[in-house]
Amino acid sequence: MSFSQIRDQEIALRLLQGMCRRERIPNGLLFWGPDGVGKSLAALEFAKAVNCEARNGDACGQCLSCRKITNRNHGDILYIAPEGKGRLINVKAIESMTEMVIYRPFEGGTRVVLIYDADRMHEAAQNKFLKTLEEPPSKTVFVLITTSPRRLLPTILSRCHRIRFRALQEATVVQILREKEQCSETRALAIAPLAQGSMTRALDLLHSDRREAVLDIIKRLASREDPLVVSELFTAHLQEKEKQITAELKAEWSGKPEEGGESPEMEKEGLEALVAGRIRREVQEYLRLFDSWYRDEMMQAVSAGEALLFNRDQMAHLARDISLDGQSVKLAAINEAARYIERNMQSQRVFRDLFFELARPVTGTALRPPGRQAGG
Ligand SMILES: [Zn+2]
Repeated sequence: MSFSQIRDQEIALRLLQGMCRRERIPNGLLFWGPDGVGKSLAALEFAKAVNCEARNGDACGQCLSCRKITNRNHGDILYIAPEGKGRLINVKAIESMTEMVIYRPFEGGTRVVLIYDADRMHEAAQNKFLKTLEEPPSKTVFVLITTSPRRLLPTILSRCHRIRFRALQEATVVQILREKEQCSETRALAIAPLAQGSMTRALDLLHSDRREAVLDIIKRLASREDPLVVSELFTAHLQEKEKQITAELKAEWSGKPEEGGESPEMEKEGLEALVAGRIRREVQEYLRLFDSWYRDEMMQAVSAGEALLFNRDQMAHLARDISLDGQSVKLAAINEAARYIERNMQSQRVFRDLFFELARPVTGTALRPPGRQAGG
């Protein structure tokens, strides 16, 4: 194992390897970028590289230090991640870490503190962490991993060297799906454009029936089924999803004892907020798929290349003869729906209104940009 297993992050890796080779490593590093692009993996390989006995700016994967890190029993690598019911990094976790880092590294190398989802640090935890970062212990590197650096205190950000991670290339997503998930080529090629460079989203698409549900709705709307009936169907599908999410989170919640003992009301509120947040994210992913479809139809209408389409596996089903104005109205309606969901409006109503908008026929009055031949 080494940096070489991390894909499509050449700039980030060059910076990290340079630091390791020169043995000049800042006390604070911020790994930021979209979900599912290799930040956590890179952080772990970095922890290995700075401690590797081979000292060549990478992790050999073979020496005792590398092996200990792989097996998670290296005394100088600390892991902090959100926990408990609120999924937060609380001040206690930061305090126990700061108590440990005042000692020299046990194994004589560089201590690496990996803080996953660093933006989930409670405000008090951030303030506590800031103090440590202001007077960093020697031979200690803090690696903050986050998709949302803006949720961190500016004073923390200014003390961290930022390493940006980018969305993966489509071919990489296909390759990982094929190699690690034994996904068929057809399926991998269908999922990759929709994943938009994130393995988290790709795996989510692979294991959920979300896309099938969206394609079914689009087909029904295109064949002029009553949008009211279609929206009832979709509502039933969403309610089923909500039930699943609620049951999953409830089971997780009851299995986790929380220190501090919150009142039952606070507990209930906490769970409700967590469920609502998860459902909101789920609904947004549905909207993203609807958006990709109508965007593709627009692209197709202006004869944009296939490479720009999200739903490449469904090309034959994309309507071609559409009016660009009509399609813009549909895309605006999806955008509006996303905003309503963000504001906690009831999804049943949002989708009913949206489906009426999406069901409007826009064929027959195709406006084509000058110079393009109708019918491709
Ligand atoms: Zn090594």
